[in-house]
Parts: sequence; C-alpha cells; structure tokens
Amino acid sequence: MIPEIEKASATAIKTFQEEKLRELLQYVNTLSPYYRKLFRKHKLSISKINTLEDLQRIPTTTKDDLQQHNDSFLCVPKNQIVDFVTTSGTLGEPVTVGLTDGDLERLAYNEAISFACAGIGTDDILQLTTTMDRRFMAGLAYFLGVRKLGAGIIRVGAGIPELQWDTILKFRPTYLIVVPSFLLKLMQYARENEIALSDSGIKGAICIGEPLRNPDFSLNVLGQKIRDEWDIELYTTYASTEMSTAFTECTAQQGGHHHPELIIVELLDENERPVDDGKEGELVITTLGVEAMPLLRFKTGDMMTAHREPCPCGRNSLRLGPVLGRKKQMIKYKGTTLYPPALHNALNDFPEVDSFVIELYHNNIGTDEIRIKIATKSTATNLLARIKDHFRSKLRVTPTITVRPIEEIARLRSSKLGRKPVSVIDLRAR
Ligand SMILES: [Zn+2]
Repeated sequence: MIPEIEKASATAIKTFQEEKLRELLQYVNTLSPYYRKLFRKHKLSISKINTLEDLQRIPTTTKDDLQQHNDSFLCVPKNQIVDFVTTSGTLGEPVTVGLTDGDLERLAYNEAISFACAGIGTDDILQLTTTMDRRFMAGLAYFLGVRKLGAGIIRVGAGIPELQWDTILKFRPTYLIVVPSFLLKLMQYARENEIALSDSGIKGAICIGEPLRNPDFSLNVLGQKIRDEWDIELYTTYASTEMSTAFTECTAQQGGHHHPELIIVELLDENERPVDDGKEGELVITTLGVEAMPLLRFKTGDMMTAHREPCPCGRNSLRLGPVLGRKKQMIKYKGTTLYPPALHNALNDFPEVDSFVIELYHNNIGTDEIRIKIATKSTATNLLARIKDHFRSKLRVTPTITVRPIEEIARLRSSKLGRKPVSVIDLRAR
C-alpha cells in the first residue's frame, strides 16, 4: 500500500504539492480569519503564490500566534467540529485543535499509510499502550488508522505492565504502539515474572515520543538497550497535533517518510531561509487537506535534517532524520552546535552516573556554556576523565563536569511547577 505519488519523481511530487498549495491558499483566503488578515496586512495576493519557492513570501506561523489567536484559525462553524483536542501551548494555556469529520478521515488515512510504511498489514494486530482520551489526538488517530488499514487493535491504554502482558499472551498481538522507555518496563516485568520475550509473538514496535536513533540512523543508547534484550523491529514515528500528520519509518529504517499528499515540509535556518541539503534546520510545515484548522508555514521548533535520496523501499518522498533537539535549547558551544539530547545520550553511556542535571548559561562575554552536575556512588578516580574523553570523542566538546551530592541533583531536577523532573536547566538570558 504505497500511494502512487510517493513513488513518483521528485519533480512530479513538487508539481503535485504546488497544485495542492494553490487549493489551500484559496481555501484559507476564503475561510480562515487569521490568514485572510495576514494576507491583507502584508499585501499578499495569493494568485502570485504558485510554487513551493513562492511559499517563502508568506510569513511563518508560530506556536504563540496559534495560542494568541486560537479561534481565528478555525475555518468552519463550530458545529462542524466532531472532535476537540488540545496541545500544550508555549505560554501556559493549552491550544485547542478541532477536527471535522473530513479531518478524522484524513487522520485515518495518514495513520493507515504510516503503519503500512512500517510493514504492518491486514493480518497484524496492534496493541495500543498509550491513552485514547485525555484530549489527545494520537490514540484516536492510531485506532482510526488501524481500522482503515484493515488490521486489528487492542486498546489497553497507558501503564499497567501486568495488563499489557496478560493482553499480549491472551490475544497474541504482533506490534506494540509504545513509548520506548515503557518497553523497558515491559521487559523488566517479563524478567521478574519469567515470561520469555522470544515467545511473545511481538514482531515490532511503533515507537512514539522519545528518540531511538542517532543522526546516522543507528540505534541510540535507549534503542540499543531494548534490542540487546528483545529481538523486535523498532520503528520510530514523528508527529504532532498541529501537523495532524505522521512521519513514520519504513522497513529500511532510514528516517520518517514524508507523505506529499498530506503536508509540505520546509527546513529553515535562524533567518528563515531554507537550509542546504543535509544541513539541520527547523521543521516548518504547511498542512494539506485539513478542513478545520489548516496551518501555513507553522514553525514546529524541532531541529532535524532531511534526506532526499530515493529509499530502498521504493518511495521517493523525503525522509526526516531524528529530532536533534528543540530550537530553543540549541547550544552554540566552542564552534559546535549541539542539543541537550546529545548530552543525555553521552551521559547514558555511563551506568555509574546515578543522576545528572545539565545547566546552560551565558558566560561573561555572552556565549553559551554547559555545566553538567552528576551524582555517582562510584569511587573510581578516573570516572570524570573517562566521561570527558567520551564527550570529546562523541561530541567534539568537553563541558565542565562536577560531582555533586545526589540530594542536590534531586533538588535541581524537581521543577518549581511540580511537574515532571527536568534534566536541563536553561539559565541563559533571552
Ligand atoms: Zn523507505
């Protein structure tokens, strides 16, 4: 089940997207109060925007815009909205996203071709280990996608390893939809209860929410930890509520595939100029076929790289590499650009490190500095030296690293808002 357009040439894909773009501009110019006002303010005539390059003349939309003008993004009367979901805003209040019946159909199609991309077929049964409700879009999207694909699904929901294993052994699902760190919990439960992982019947996992791969597509520490013990295929998928679109790996596992009928992709630098091929940029998206809340040039804040060479699976659509980090957390350190997840990965290679916190601050000349505080029970005198060497070889930089009491790290990690623990404390002035 590969949509024809994904096997077409890069030129044909571009022409196809430009046709869809013109339709979208007509649509938002007529129905979106937000974009109509934006076009008027910038004296933009949509008849002059015909190519993907022309798209760059339209100002970008930020998460703050979406938050501050939430209602004026809506293109349909409220009674056309079937499903209301929310996504976290940047200013505290959640942003509401509404979906029409047509949007739910589009979402189903998106997930169906995404699952098919990962090699899932009509004989497969998927076990959903994430929540279906709580105003989230994802769980419902998975359910609709599996239904559209013609496969089966068991909605177990989040947590409860015992119920997850009871379900695996009773219904014999072939794939899990799961947050990778929860896979570790399932493996631990299996160990403690003498369940043989090799007899589980699970062939693979669709992994959401946490990165599993390095930029060269090899498994990161978390991914490797899972694979060392459980021989299943790990497929990563990247999606967000605002995009209403997923980028899921195919069986070649070389990045998340772009579905050209659903979304336009740009990767932009700090000055909102397209980055050169192979360079990292912020993902900026334009949704296609969305009725209720279409978005033009929405800045996701996620930094990544695009891969445009044809994929062994037969698709010519571009692939997105793993999220390197959040744009806001970009660190410019001694001539290198890096993101906190890369620091996490390097630290996770040391089992002796019990806990850590990464502090980012500006030095007296205003450039970025990294200070890592670790807690360890190890008395080995060379531990710090080994960690520094590891940073130098993996990331080409050596931040300041100090050993602190575990209580101090715990206090730093418990954020003031009392939500989940933080591992990055950004003290840089904005
Ligand atoms: Zn592929």
